[in-house]
Amino acid sequence: MNTEVNLEGSIAHSPYAGRSAQMFPRLTSVQIARLTPHGKQIATLRGQILAEAGDRVPMYVVLAGSLEIIQPTLAGETLVVVHTQGSFSGDVGTLRGLSSVVRTRVRDPGTVLVIDNAGLRAVVQTDSQLSELFMRAYILRRVALMTTGSSDVILLGSTRSAGTLRIQQFFTRNSYPFVNLDIDADASVRELLERFHVGVEDFPVLVCHGSVILKNPSNEEVAATLGMNQEIDNDRVRDVIVVGAGPAGLAAGVYAASEGLDAMVLETGTPGGQAGSSSKIENYLGFPTGISGLALAARALIQAQKFGAEIRTAYSVLSLSCDKRPYTIHFANGLSVRARTIVIATGAEYRQLSLGNAAGFMGMGIYYAATSTEAKRCGTGEVIVVGGGNSAGQAAVFLSGTCKMVHLLVRASGLADTMSQYLIRRINDSPNITLHVKTEITALEGTDQLERVTWKTVGKEPEVHDIGHVFLMMGALPCTGWLNSCIALNDKGFVRTGSDLHDADLSATDWNSGRHPEFFESSIPGIFAVGDVRCGSIKRVAAAVGEGSACIQQVHRVLQS
Ligand SMILES: Cc1cc2nc3c(=O)[nH]c(=O)nc-3n(C[C@H](O)[C@H](O)[C@H](O)COP(=O)(O)OP(=O)(O)OC[C@H]3O[C@@H](n4cnc5c(N)ncnc54)[C@H](O)[C@@H]3O)c2cc1C
Repeated sequence: MNTEVNLEGSIAHSPYAGRSAQMFPRLTSVQIARLTPHGKQIATLRGQILAEAGDRVPMYVVLAGSLEIIQPTLAGETLVVVHTQGSFSGDVGTLRGLSSVVRTRVRDPGTVLVIDNAGLRAVVQTDSQLSELFMRAYILRRVALMTTGSSDVILLGSTRSAGTLRIQQFFTRNSYPFVNLDIDADASVRELLERFHVGVEDFPVLVCHGSVILKNPSNEEVAATLGMNQEIDNDRVRDVIVVGAGPAGLAAGVYAASEGLDAMVLETGTPGGQAGSSSKIENYLGFPTGISGLALAARALIQAQKFGAEIRTAYSVLSLSCDKRPYTIHFANGLSVRARTIVIATGAEYRQLSLGNAAGFMGMGIYYAATSTEAKRCGTGEVIVVGGGNSAGQAAVFLSGTCKMVHLLVRASGLADTMSQYLIRRINDSPNITLHVKTEITALEGTDQLERVTWKTVGKEPEVHDIGHVFLMMGALPCTGWLNSCIALNDKGFVRTGSDLHDADLSATDWNSGRHPEFFESSIPGIFAVGDVRCGSIKRVAAAVGEGSACIQQVHRVLQS
């Protein structure tokens, strides 16, 4: 058994102890023999640091001696595990070729087999037994690392800062371990700020690996500093570039890569899209007890990478040049990439309140997602959820688990036309959810943080409530602004595809390919649209996944034509 080999006494009670046999399996000599052609052997010296947190690291398989995996923290080092003969290093980031979040140091000198990112990917794509063993171990290791709550990436923020919430969401949705220090709750945080010579005006502040300090960084800066993306080779013309890593884009990435296409998936925020902001998806086939959008996205992400799809997060696509093939995608950072086909999977963005000061409370009392990150901000107080669809219903039910009262506000006279019956039943059965029909928010008040909300029910006087947390779940608008008007859209801005395309759409874009557009193909040959962004799509996770998967067959056809 490997557990006694890997786990030190101090780890026995840690999150790593739970499923240690699966988390830290020991490879047999036969398995090591299969890995040997994919790597090279090197001798190790006692105390030698093979990789620091922040370095891009290969996988190390211990052939002799031992390696210790250390989690650097502000307070010093925490030993995660000791790998001995037959054990291997790494976690989900290793497979993605991303920077490590731990330090790898030689404890007892010996020999390791070094397998780089390309070698590792070759193994997981060709050896199903090792692939399963590595995948399971890597996922469990990252999950355990996340639950330790320790890291040397420290977010100094405040519950009264929208930027703090944004970065918390970014780390959580990327499964990146970080320590959250709240200046309002912990006086020692001010001391820490002085130590790093930063003032409260710079909030939120990110201290990376004890040295790099970022003041109110963008998600792109965070990703670049922490090595959360590999560099993009922009000389290569890819078979397909998928824009958007929601359920539709991730499914397209999985199918494209698994069917041998050179595929890249680009995401402006974090993988998962709208589904990533759902606390629990209960109608997705195969998950009878439901699955959080975060967990679904994390699994899909690693699946896409296992098959070799390149994924870049915090990479915003600014525009598309569709006048000549291969098509060019331009990024906000000035770079560009080219592909023979493009899959548009940019989904939709939440509708906002049409009140002048609403944008100022974004993340400061107004939220567009209801997951545990946002719920923590609300404590046990009263909250408002606006909307009559399933996302609003889910949010209300989820928040009723921790909040004293959830006020569900809808403009319509009921929920029956817009919400699934199972959610309506749960809402009716929850003593701490109050449904207010024919009701709209008419005013928001507060200095920095939202403090007071006024709502008006048809036929009644406006009511003012001291409630500081409002969840907006009022439907969404398509993310098609980046398409530069070169593709036919419907009057609401959704991409027309296949039989939804009118003759005028095709003549406007000079469709001259001598064939009809495929079902998911837009008015430009080789540019497809799937999921919520597509006109006429069913706005559900399963539908988005189905469209993303199915369109790849059409991508193949177009590539071969
Ligand atoms: C809170 C909530 C709960 C929900 N619950 C359920 C449920 O229980 N069951 C269900 O079936 N459906 C549910 N839905 C609906 C479901 O999530 C969507 O139908 C589904 O996510 C659509 O997938 P998509 O990939 O088409 O688009 P999206 O999920 O919208 O993903 C699009 C992605 O593209 C990215 N993007 C946008 N523009 C750019 C750009 N220019 N460059 C790069 N990337 C870009 C976005 O950041 C996003 O990640 C819920 C939705 C919400 C909001």
